[in-house]
Amino acid sequence: MTALPTRSAPAADPLLDRLGRPLGNLRISVTDRCNLRCAYCMPEEEYSWLPMASVMTFEELTVLARAFRSLGVRRLRLTGGEPLLRRDLDKLVGMLAAIEGLEDLAMTTNGVLLSAQAAALKRAGLSRLTVSLDTLRPERFRELARRDELAAVLAGIEETRRVGFSALKLDMVMLRGVNDDEFLPMLDYATSVGAELRFIEYMDVGGATRWRRADVVSRQELLARVEAVRGRAEPVVESSSAPADRYRLADGTVFGVISSTTQPFCGSCDRSRLTADGRWFLCLYARQGLDLGRALRAGAGESEVAALIRERWGVRDDRGAVDRLAEHERTALAPADELRRNPHLEMHTRGG
Ligand code: SAM
Ligand code: SF4
Ligand code: SF4
Repeated sequence: MTALPTRSAPAADPLLDRLGRPLGNLRISVTDRCNLRCAYCMPEEEYSWLPMASVMTFEELTVLARAFRSLGVRRLRLTGGEPLLRRDLDKLVGMLAAIEGLEDLAMTTNGVLLSAQAAALKRAGLSRLTVSLDTLRPERFRELARRDELAAVLAGIEETRRVGFSALKLDMVMLRGVNDDEFLPMLDYATSVGAELRFIEYMDVGGATRWRRADVVSRQELLARVEAVRGRAEPVVESSSAPADRYRLADGTVFGVISSTTQPFCGSCDRSRLTADGRWFLCLYARQGLDLGRALRAGAGESEVAALIRERWGVRDDRGAVDRLAEHERTALAPADELRRNPHLEMHTRGG
């Protein structure tokens, strides 16, 4: 394991933003590159990428993660782009897993490269995996993700089970007229592989340049459609800052719904996002981020970075998805030409 530089003691009082929300959860995007081109995330032919030289090394990401941990972050999630495209990712997992006081180290992946890497990730200390899967039909997968990789993803899911990952989650973005007829096969598939399915409302953020309100399948509609076939979906009562609301069917199946678009959960949002080049975004919808990577490369150590984070989180009042509800003529947040000029606005840069 790599020796890490400075250390600061965990904060005694939780750091709260202006709306009283703690800093609890950090999503780290380890690369903006991806091996799929999902229609709701990367629909264009060409993209502007982050310069390779700006991408944080594992050591740099670990210093940043330690600074966040010192201010109360207990849950880390690795994401991307496609995180498994980052070479030797298990090494980073090992370095992060060694940070004292972390409760959870998870990853969201499209699963294409999981077969080869699941065992090493488990050994390195990854606690949980979420695999994004929108369809079980090969033809549809090819159309939706513009790559023929369904078989690889399904094999990857099998492998996660074989190497002992439990509490696997499957995230399905619902698009009207594209895959919303698959909610039952997906529920059954999730059960068959011991996973919990989460239905995600199509969001208008990042690369979703083709977003239209009419294409969103709301939580309300989804629940009505599930209940029409499977009977009552009983809400699971739990207190958590997790974005998914969970439901239980009479046969015991539990599933989640993430209704970021129609019923956002900004009031309890304790998560922020770090891009692969160290830019820190306090809201998925935020247009500006704080350049912690630059500060680090200019000589700031862990405690100086922690001071920057503390100051900025203290004045956070973002409620991006709630603010969007007020827009009557709602279209995609950013058009394609703006995304090309500013790739930091992309979902595949921010990590979703
Ligand atoms: N490539 C990995 C994957 O797909 O799991 C990790 C990064 S991806 C940006 C993280 C999550 O964002 C995925 O579950 C994806 O489905 C979700 N996502 C991307 N664009 C979205 C959109 N417009 N609406 C809702 N979810 C979206
Ligand atoms: Fe799809 Fe994830 Fe890649 Fe976006 S980053 S295109 S959601 S696999
Ligand atoms: Fe949090 Fe922003 Fe998403 Fe609201 S829109 S839940 S504040 S990241």
